[in-house]
Formats: sequence, C-alpha cells, structure tokens
Amino acid sequence: MERKVPLQSSKQLTLYYFFPDKLNLYGDRGNIISLAKRSEWRGINLNIKEIRSTDGVTLEDMDLFFIGGGSDREQSVATAELQNIKIQLKEKIESGVPGLTICGGYQFLGNQYIDANGNELECLGILDFYTVAKQPRLTGNILVQSELFGEIVGFENHAGRTYHSYRPLGKVEKGSGNNDDSGLEGLLYKNLIGTYLHGPILPKNPAISDYLIAKAIEHRYDEDTASAWITQLDDYLEHLTRKQVCKRVKNG
Ligand code: GLN
Repeated sequence: MERKVPLQSSKQLTLYYFFPDKLNLYGDRGNIISLAKRSEWRGINLNIKEIRSTDGVTLEDMDLFFIGGGSDREQSVATAELQNIKIQLKEKIESGVPGLTICGGYQFLGNQYIDANGNELECLGILDFYTVAKQPRLTGNILVQSELFGEIVGFENHAGRTYHSYRPLGKVEKGSGNNDDSGLEGLLYKNLIGTYLHGPILPKNPAISDYLIAKAIEHRYDEDTASAWITQLDDYLEHLTRKQVCKRVKNG
C-alpha cells in the first residue's frame, strides 16, 4: 500500500549515521531504512549523513543519530574515532537530541568495557556505566516490556554484560538483556536509547522510530510542530509482523 505524501522542502531533519561500514551487525542498517521511510511517508525529508571519520565533524546540524553494533575490534576502532567529538556528542545528548545506540554502540557510551580476555577497551565516558564481556554469549530472540513503548521484540547477541542505574528501556520477558541477572534491558537517558536489540529493532517496533523522529522535530522546531508532522500511519503490516514474531518468541 503506497502511503507517502510528497516530500516538503520545509520539513527537514538531519540524521547522523555513525560508522555504517564498521558498526552494522545483524541488519542494524534496517533501522536507518525505518527512520527514513517513516519520515518520508509523512513528507519529512530525512537527510542522512554517513559518518566514517570524525575529522571536521561538528554535529551542528545533527537532529538525531544512530550507532549500530560491531565486534570488539570494530567497536574499539569506532570509539577511538569518536574520542574527537565525545564532548560535542555528550552536549547534544544532554540537550535532548535523540539517539539510538545498539549493543557495541551502546556499550562504549559508558566509562568501561572489559573484553572477554580481561583487556579494557577505551570508552567515551558519556554516561556512567560499565560492561564486562564473558562467555557464554547472550544470544537469541528477546522480548521486553517497556513503559514507554509497550512490548518490544528483537534479537540479541553479545558477550558484554552491562551494569547501570539509569532508567532501563524495559523489563525482559524472554531473553537476557543488559546482563545475566537484572532482568532489565537497555537504557533511557533524556532522549537517548541504548539497547542490545538487533533485528533490526525499529521495523518491528515502529513506536520507537516515531519517538525518535518526534523528539528530533521537537528539538529542532517545537512540540506543536512534532504533533502536526507525526501523523498516524497505517501500520497494519508492522503490527502483523510484531504479533507473529512475539508469538514465536513466547512459544520458543
Ligand atoms: N562486542 C560486543 C559484545 O560482544 C558487542 C557485540 C554487538 O554489537 N553485537 O558484547
């Protein structure tokens, strides 16, 4: 079903997509497609800036951002690169710019990551939490109950166990989430979302896409513009997919 309205030049947002070449595990690029299509279907022009190097990057025009997951090696290369702009990135997060960070992209926002061999990988220290990697890896389908987004379904595959006292994305109903014993998944801080859910998470959980787009509009324009632009979409297919996957995960 074609449900798009013509793009309007007055409706612009800029998304920073960090390290699409390095941090793109388990289909995380699908999150960018979801954000782009759900903007386009509302006539919003989402300009996607793919950031492969932070030389000369100022984040001035960043309305929202995405960092995907990667292996420890890619994660540490990306972290080293992000050191150049960690102060600006922290300022943007503190000012309410929305972001979605997945797995490795989530882990390195903290102040410590100890890999499975006991080596400490450099982190950005933007938020106060730590991660310790160990075997076995936490892998499989995951179901999370979130106060903000309701039922969230995805896939996790990580050695890292993350420990923090921020608001979680939600409670784990099936799977592991942040670590082996808290029963909590992810992190919410201002309009930043950290999560272990790959999949990609957004196509099956459109409420999260719309949240990120709405917060970006609110930050760049204002709340009234956000409610005017975030029109209701026909999500019949998205919800049918969610229902099927949730059923499979619950009975799995
Ligand atoms: N390397 C990290 C870990 O294994 C993150 C992996 C990922 O991004 N899926 O926990």
